[in-house]
Amino acid sequence: MIRGNKTAGVHYDPCYERHDTGPGHPESAERYRVLEAALATLPPVFVRLPPRRALVSEVLLAHDHNYHDLVYRDVETFADRLRTGDTAICEESYDVALEATGAVLEAVDSVMRGDVSSAFCAVRPPGHHATATRGMGFCIFNHVAIAARYLQSRHGLRKIAIIDWDVHHGNGTEAIFLEDPTVFYISLHEANIYPYTGYVSAHGQGAGEGGNLNIPLPPNSDGDLALREWQVQLEPAIEAFQPEFLLISAGFDARVNDPIGGLRWTDETFAEMTRRCVVLADRWCGGRIVSSLEGGYNPPGLASAALAHVRALAEP
Ligand SMILES: [Zn+2]
Repeated sequence: MIRGNKTAGVHYDPCYERHDTGPGHPESAERYRVLEAALATLPPVFVRLPPRRALVSEVLLAHDHNYHDLVYRDVETFADRLRTGDTAICEESYDVALEATGAVLEAVDSVMRGDVSSAFCAVRPPGHHATATRGMGFCIFNHVAIAARYLQSRHGLRKIAIIDWDVHHGNGTEAIFLEDPTVFYISLHEANIYPYTGYVSAHGQGAGEGGNLNIPLPPNSDGDLALREWQVQLEPAIEAFQPEFLLISAGFDARVNDPIGGLRWTDETFAEMTRRCVVLADRWCGGRIVSSLEGGYNPPGLASAALAHVRALAEP
């Protein structure tokens, strides 16, 4: 939709149905199907961004070579889960994970070219639990972490902010950038649930001291509390950091009635957080935002919240 002379992009592609996690798994292809049906109702002013497969060299921007090879081998040998953790895989999972990472990088390129000012990528598997050396929590490759490094190495940007509002703490993203002062990771998440990280005390290490902000929220709390914490903690932190690009780890499992998350956010919570991201990005980042799907396990709720998010990205 037009904002100034720019547009918002959205990426979805049926390839994401090919990552089969097995019967009854919450991170299911059904999540993608319901979300795709919702995104397909967007008016054509939302530009649909094309797929592209990430190069191995791009995956290695945030992951160790040995871990990449382990994923390839586990998939090639028909393992039903990664040996590093609780991520179900099938024979297509390596390829689909590369497509998901590549889509986020393609969205970054589109935003950097100015084709669109912001973009949402409806990808799976999710990424934010994957560390440099370990896939876990349904994640294989950490798309947002790779995108941050890609923005720096391929587009010459220096300071990147990652806002992660998935109900779970993004331990993988935090670990990758904990000692990196150039990537500021901020997470709002439910306290004391999987992966049992995300404490306030983790605020960066070494050169990255101060470059990590965890905002754990009490179980069963609502979106109003999250928005207050956003204003009190997140906004001043972003203002102080002055990022050049804003990446969002957009999970929707903090939404009310999610079978895994225990918060009570609404579609309006996600819309309002998005509007606030747009304000911050307009102020510091030339409006540049790329958002990548993480969790969200009630498919109709996921679709509804994601649609509210995408529409808010493009509000004038
Ligand atoms: Zn999650």
